Amino acid sequence: MRKILVAGNWKMHGSKPMVRSLLEGLLAGSSADAKADLAVFPPFPYLSLTESILSGTHIRWGGQTLNPNAKGAHTGETSGSMLVDMGCSYVLVGHSERRSIYNESDKDVALRFKAALDAGLQPVLCVGETLEEREEEQTEAVVARQLDAVITQVGIEAFARATVAYEPVWAIGTGLTATPQQAQSVHAFIRDKMTALNVIIADQLRILYGGSVKGSNAAELFAQSDIDGGLVGGASLTAEDFLAIYSAVA
Ligand code: PEP
Repeated sequence: MRKILVAGNWKMHGSKPMVRSLLEGLLAGSSADAKADLAVFPPFPYLSLTESILSGTHIRWGGQTLNPNAKGAHTGETSGSMLVDMGCSYVLVGHSERRSIYNESDKDVALRFKAALDAGLQPVLCVGETLEEREEEQTEAVVARQLDAVITQVGIEAFARATVAYEPVWAIGTGLTATPQQAQSVHAFIRDKMTALNVIIADQLRILYGGSVKGSNAAELFAQSDIDGGLVGGASLTAEDFLAIYSAVA
C-alpha cells in the first residue's frame, strides 16, 4: 500500500457503457508503478462489472456504504462480506451525503466502520464540517467529535487498516474548494489528534482531501505535507478529468 491514494466516488451515477469506457480509460492512463494508488467507488449494481474489468490490475474498488449488520432481514441493504465477495478492498463510511440525507449519526458511522473492518475491508472514514459550523469556528470540534465516535468504538489501532478523508461539506459538489492552507490546517489537526494516541499509526495514516478537487487545483492541494491524496466526486466521472488529478500526484 502506498501512502498516497486517489479515489473516485461516483455517487449515484453510471451505466454499463459508462463503466466500461471510464475503467478502460483509467487503466490506459494509469500505472502500477506510479506513486499513488488509484481506486473507484461505483454504485452497487456496477461492482460486478467493475470486478470483471479491474480484477488483476493495479486499480482497486470499493462500495459507497455498507450496512452495519453482517446479514439478515435488511431489505435493500448490502453487507461488508457481500462487498468482499465483489472483490472490494475499500468502503466509504460517513460520507456527508449519508450523514445528512440518510441521517447517519456518528454512532451509526462508527458501527459501519467496525463492520467494514470485521469483513476485511478498509474503511475510508469521511469527516468534515458544514459551512455554518465553519463560520461558527466549530470545524475542529466537529471533526474531533466525528473521529472520537469511531475511536471509541474500535480503538486507535484499528486506524492501521483505515483511511480518513477530510471533506468540508461546503466544498462537496459546490465548485468551492478549501484553499490548500485551509485543508492543510484541518489535516494537521487530524494528524496531531491521532499522534497523541499513537505516533506510528498517525504517521502512516492516509488523510485524503475531498471537495471539488479538479486537475487545476490538485497539485497545490496534494503538495501540502498532511494531504495524502484525494477523494474525488464529480471529476472522477470521466477518465480525462480523473487522470488529470491522478497525474498531479502519481
Ligand atoms: C465527494 O463526493 O466525496 C466529493 C468530494 O465530491 P466533489 O469532488 O464533486 O466535490
